[in-house]
Amino acid sequence: MWYNEGLQIGGLPQMEVKGMEQRNNVALSSLSGVGPVRSGKLAKLGLERLSDVLWHFPLRYEDRRKVYTVREAPEGQMCCVKAMVAQLPQLSRVRSGIELVKVRCVDDTGVLNLTFFHQSYLRHTFSPGDQYVFYGKVERQGRGISMVNPLFEKEGEEKYTGRIVPVYPLTAGVHNALLMNLAQLAVEQLAPTVEEVLPLWVREEYHLCQQEFALQNIHFPQSFEGLEWARRRLIFEELLTLTCGLAMLKGRRQHFDGLRLAPHSPEEFQSLLPFIPTDAQRRAMEDIFHDVTSGQSMNRLVQGDVGSGKTAVAAYGAWVTALSGMQCALMAPTELLAEQHYRTLSTLLGPSGIRVELLTGSVKGAGRKKLLQALASGDVQVLVGTHALFSQGVEYHRLGLVIADEQHRFGVAQRGALAAKGGEIPPHVLVMSATPIPRTLALMIYGDMEVSIIDQLPPGRTPVSTYVVGEDKRQRMYGFVRTQVGQGRQVYLVCPAVEENGGEDEEGQTSLFPAMDLKAVTTYAKHLQEQVFPDLKVGFVHGKMKSKDKEAIMSAFAAGEIQVLVSTTVIEVGVDVPNATLMIVENADRFGLSQLHQLRGRVGRGKHESYCVLVTASRSETARQRLRVLTQTTDGFQIAQEDLRLRGPGDFFGQRQHGLPQLKVADFASDLEVLNQARQAAQALVDGDPDLTQAQHLPLRRRVEHMFRDNPDIFH
Ligand code: ADP
Ligand code: MG
Repeated sequence: MWYNEGLQIGGLPQMEVKGMEQRNNVALSSLSGVGPVRSGKLAKLGLERLSDVLWHFPLRYEDRRKVYTVREAPEGQMCCVKAMVAQLPQLSRVRSGIELVKVRCVDDTGVLNLTFFHQSYLRHTFSPGDQYVFYGKVERQGRGISMVNPLFEKEGEEKYTGRIVPVYPLTAGVHNALLMNLAQLAVEQLAPTVEEVLPLWVREEYHLCQQEFALQNIHFPQSFEGLEWARRRLIFEELLTLTCGLAMLKGRRQHFDGLRLAPHSPEEFQSLLPFIPTDAQRRAMEDIFHDVTSGQSMNRLVQGDVGSGKTAVAAYGAWVTALSGMQCALMAPTELLAEQHYRTLSTLLGPSGIRVELLTGSVKGAGRKKLLQALASGDVQVLVGTHALFSQGVEYHRLGLVIADEQHRFGVAQRGALAAKGGEIPPHVLVMSATPIPRTLALMIYGDMEVSIIDQLPPGRTPVSTYVVGEDKRQRMYGFVRTQVGQGRQVYLVCPAVEENGGEDEEGQTSLFPAMDLKAVTTYAKHLQEQVFPDLKVGFVHGKMKSKDKEAIMSAFAAGEIQVLVSTTVIEVGVDVPNATLMIVENADRFGLSQLHQLRGRVGRGKHESYCVLVTASRSETARQRLRVLTQTTDGFQIAQEDLRLRGPGDFFGQRQHGLPQLKVADFASDLEVLNQARQAAQALVDGDPDLTQAQHLPLRRRVEHMFRDNPDIFH
């Protein structure tokens, strides 16, 4: 939709600009072209002051540099045409009261007929003989051309034509033209005053343009090359700010006093385990042992593929904390997983006299009260639960360690908030994750943490045999389900997420797929139960169910009461049902490889041989090729790398929260190279000047402070 209204906003007032502070503080509402209504709408975009506009970058650009003659104007495309008004505009009314203004224009090569709807006042705007540049969609009309509701500018006053035009993120009532006007003002007034945050050596070493040039060209690029320079510099700057902040967080923690726990080693713990830990598990435990006895605060990520045995490592952490007379809180993302951990930890630690309890939203009334009392008095040493663990009214006696399991949403900010639940000295923090993200990204997302990687599966696991099959194999596949169930095993059958209109899926990830049938899971389960497996017990579960119902189904499956479980990806994370040996994924081409790998990790957890069947109706060779990666490797990191390569930028993380400050220009996946450079530079900067207090680093420090403003403790 096209507004020529933009042109009537008129120029903004010339402002008196005195000191820099005053410039930065110009409120948009104080500009005469804006007014209270518009400024309210601008505020919705986070724009309250002129400096906000300077940092509100275009989403994309339109190349309107070429101005065509009538004859050359390309049909069906948006473009600029210069022509002279040839006659007085004609106003007419057509049926249903629609008013339209017709303007006939000409140039040396032909006729341009314009039609404007609902803008009868325009009949007074155009006078014969005036030259204009019109921007609109060109339709051929006999020997001439026509445009409907084009944007127009008088020759010599072009602002929106004859150049590369920025297109800004908009909201109702805020037109692009308004933002362009404001941006122009912001660039003129403020860009020259913005502090250069990049030290000279950084700009030289990484070939980065100057701040002022970058700000000018990101809004009003002279050329696409200039835009590229600007973008690269701003991305670098943003990633440098982020990585400096993370490096500072990490550095600070190393200076922190941490709770020093009694030195009970992993060897001592080993006798409690029903198995011999793998070397990788042992290494992770050694890392933890070192951290918690070092006198510094631990902030460690344990990353290990599904099934690599992270629970035992977490259990060691809980154990060593309890032996020092302190408490451990283990947080899981769902009640089901919390219950699972509760059972495991009670079995492991109970015999040593450690009291393990479970706290979820379902624990209510007197039971809850008693539990909270026991927690506050220190009688409970290990508390397992959901995020309820950190809700109001939950008081710990001496919280020594917080463990977060499989928790994507446990970001920097939450980690900071935890400190508040501890005493004087913040608790140690351990995060367990199976999300196999490439190492650079892991370092980024968990940039303030130390990382232990469990790159080994417990012995005796046979890799899950994986197959990619087409629709023609469906009956055989159902036959295979029967065989497995006949042998006493259980089956997962996963469909793409239940969703409406391609909205968000269950993880809040914007869907990449076209709208799916909302009833996919329920109707499919019904079909299977009635038509295909009338003699088997089929259950279903999806993310839109009440969590109580969901948990009931999952428990029934865990108890073996359901043989075939139809589900969405709600079972993706952490569920441990060793008797399940077959995973079937419908429409597998609609999932990312990493996600499929995670799903596959739900089987192959017991002693029975396990299988994963990826069903696809896609005939595209690339789609099948992609899926075949899973038949060739079980290495989660390799799969993640491949996923990133094949799916390209953006999709890898989707909207999934990672808890880092919001980025404006950079994108983790697509700007990997710049990310590596920025990390390198940040490390060098922070190594030489840990608090960035040297004069030439102060602007950067201020920028870091601004980005991490929700993490105020970063600098204390
Ligand atoms: P994840 O890393 O996915 O959380 P779990 O901790 O749930 O993995 O472990 C998966 C399964 O492997 C569990 O049943 C666990 O008892 C078993 N397991 C873990 N470590 C070992 C080991 N060293 N030897 C044998 N079995 C193990
Ligand atoms: Mg786990």
